[in-house]
Amino acid sequence: MQKILPVFDFSAQPNTSRLPPWIRQTLGGGEVYQDTLHTVRHNGLNTVCEEAACPNRGECWSRGTATFMLLGDTCTRACAFCNVKTGKPDWFDDDEPRRVCEASQHMGLKYVVLTSVNRDDLADGGAGVFADSLRALREMQPEIGVEFLTPDFKRCQSRAIDVVLAALAEVSTVPGDVQLVWGHNVETVPDLYRTVRKGADYQVSLDLLQRVAPLPGIEAKSAIMLGLGETRQQVLAVLNDLRAAGVQRVSLGQYLRPTRYHLPVQRYLSPVEFDDYAEVARELGFDWVKSGPLVRSSYHAEEEQRPEIKS
Ligand code: SF4
Repeated sequence: MQKILPVFDFSAQPNTSRLPPWIRQTLGGGEVYQDTLHTVRHNGLNTVCEEAACPNRGECWSRGTATFMLLGDTCTRACAFCNVKTGKPDWFDDDEPRRVCEASQHMGLKYVVLTSVNRDDLADGGAGVFADSLRALREMQPEIGVEFLTPDFKRCQSRAIDVVLAALAEVSTVPGDVQLVWGHNVETVPDLYRTVRKGADYQVSLDLLQRVAPLPGIEAKSAIMLGLGETRQQVLAVLNDLRAAGVQRVSLGQYLRPTRYHLPVQRYLSPVEFDDYAEVARELGFDWVKSGPLVRSSYHAEEEQRPEIKS
């Protein structure tokens, strides 16, 4: 049985006692966890599990899953909630897709989730590395499930979409099947963008989702963090916006402050509130819904929810 520990809070004045009892993380350390760790290190990959200080790392890595973070470990933006390092990346690693394949093969993954830092310095925003990863993964294993969690490609949305679509056209197998889940997280309600996602634009995020959602073989996905000061009414408005954009998959989770330099948590929502949001999301027509305190966009992403929808 795995040990259960409270999530570590890095605040200047440690306040783990103020964390509600439902905020728990599992510690990894078993054989599978160690193998995941070794595979990530051996292939020189970054994971959002580590870089974002995800509270689910013990559980996910012990299940032999991880979310690979492409395009380096340095993000060109500085969102106030995010633990990923910020700066001006001075390199570009076009060998990453091959190493993602090697790691996925070693881990026996049937469903691979790939995300990346923002690379506003690149002409295609880094879409080429997503596309090459898709090609390489499908060449290795034609039936493998692939989910992208991409940036908004703010300055180059059309180009980035074209780059990914070109790869998709090369690797698509069964017409009508879901070939790619394309996730992009709106993260929070528009009124909080200036403090939470400075440098991003709610409408730009919606635009990306609206453009990819109707494309054949693609399902669009998004996620919202709660507990940053948003109201229920604002969250419902975002869910409605996502549905109007054609988004079919949504996840909602509690924001946790990664360090004292990040935005403080305004409120811990109860599991009952998360259940309520899940119910609302299903009523709005989302057909893949995950909502819970420790839910993250890649958490159990491989689980199919049709025909019976589960949270
Ligand atoms: S929820 Fe996603 S980011 Fe977090 S540990 Fe699991 S796979 Fe990694």
